[in-house]
Amino acid sequence: MRNVLISGAGVAGPTLAYWLARNGFRPTVVERSAGRRSSGNPVDVRGPAVPVTEAMGVVPRLREVATRTTRMVVLDGAGRPVTTLKTPATTGNEVEVPRADLATVLYEAARDDAEFLFDDTITALEQDEHGVDVTFDNARPRRFDVVIGADGLHSVVRRLAFGPEREFVRPIGIHVATFPLGEPTDHPRDLLVSNTPGRLVSIHPSREEALVAFIFRSSIVDFDNRDIVQHKRIVTDAYAGLGWRVPDLLERLEDTKDLYFDSVSVVDLPSWSRGRVALVGDAASCVSLLGDGSSLAIAGAHTLAEALADGSGFARYEAVHRTRVMPKQRAINRAAAMLVPKTRLGLATRNAAARLWPGGL
Ligand SMILES: Cc1cc2nc3c(=O)[nH]c(=O)nc-3n(C[C@H](O)[C@H](O)[C@H](O)COP(=O)(O)OP(=O)(O)OC[C@H]3O[C@@H](n4cnc5c(N)ncnc54)[C@H](O)[C@@H]3O)c2cc1C
Repeated sequence: MRNVLISGAGVAGPTLAYWLARNGFRPTVVERSAGRRSSGNPVDVRGPAVPVTEAMGVVPRLREVATRTTRMVVLDGAGRPVTTLKTPATTGNEVEVPRADLATVLYEAARDDAEFLFDDTITALEQDEHGVDVTFDNARPRRFDVVIGADGLHSVVRRLAFGPEREFVRPIGIHVATFPLGEPTDHPRDLLVSNTPGRLVSIHPSREEALVAFIFRSSIVDFDNRDIVQHKRIVTDAYAGLGWRVPDLLERLEDTKDLYFDSVSVVDLPSWSRGRVALVGDAASCVSLLGDGSSLAIAGAHTLAEALADGSGFARYEAVHRTRVMPKQRAINRAAAMLVPKTRLGLATRNAAARLWPGGL
């Protein structure tokens, strides 16, 4: 059980590789992208992820790349301030960092002790009692003791070993589109969030430039993951006629080549392992943007590595980590109602609650 293949070099993958290598395993990580991914969504390293990043010695690097956001300014649809809240941001060893920087820092921690194959993907898995035969798009076929899917919401390992995505991925009726603003914001410490019923648009300061997010309720179920023109049309239709900076942001959307678009989804499987194949991070239990997914990915990867190292195995990993994931998944509809209220009444109620929030300024 020493020879482990990990699919995905996002957040969970390099964390798992690091901890497996520390425990005498020989991890190989295969990553579909040719290099660093552009998705700069600010994500969090909090709660159970903090002792893991501390023990990896990466906190100073994470602080270097952390965003400087300290406040969330809630605006109405016309851009008038509703209230201002303190954001958890970067305090103690908890940080908010662009996702791509988090992946890079974790990769840098793991790269000396793990093999990384970029620009490749698993195409087939065949397991027997003693190992897993793996074929790749580019690399030659190889045999591993264990294969782990850390390849995100649309995991190929999950599809090959567990079944089609539609069996495990539940879209919650919200879509998200994010792209770089193309310039730094005038408000480097303020996350600006403007809501109308069923629609949210935000400008989130990141390191070099800000990130725009459109998060909106929609009944669209079929879209082509690779059709950026279609994604832009869906967003433009959803935000037509709205105020504040929306017309300008839609023009920038039209020009961007770096668009992240997906439906916000929950991943729910009855078991995270099948024989010698297991899942971690979003591939196993995605809560998307609504529930500390990156912190859970780090904590889950560490728990999985420990369970493999001490011989307690996948069942122990799952028993421990499900206790962290389940409360987040149960809270997802409440989190969605707070983030993107559906109706005018829902929005007024949310805003009233936000004004009374303990972190209000
Ligand atoms: C808009 C947005 C905002 C978010 N905000 C937050 C936040 O504020 N706080 C928070 O905690 N979380 C947030 N999240 C969630 C967080 O980004 C994820 O939960 C986290 O990145 C999950 O890590 P992961 O390693 O499981 O998957 P990912 O980070 O998605 O990494 C998966 C990796 O696998 C690779 N891959 C995919 N397919 C293949 C393949 N076939 N072969 C090889 N490699 C493959 C991908 O290229 C990627 O590098 C947000 C997510 C989104 C979309």
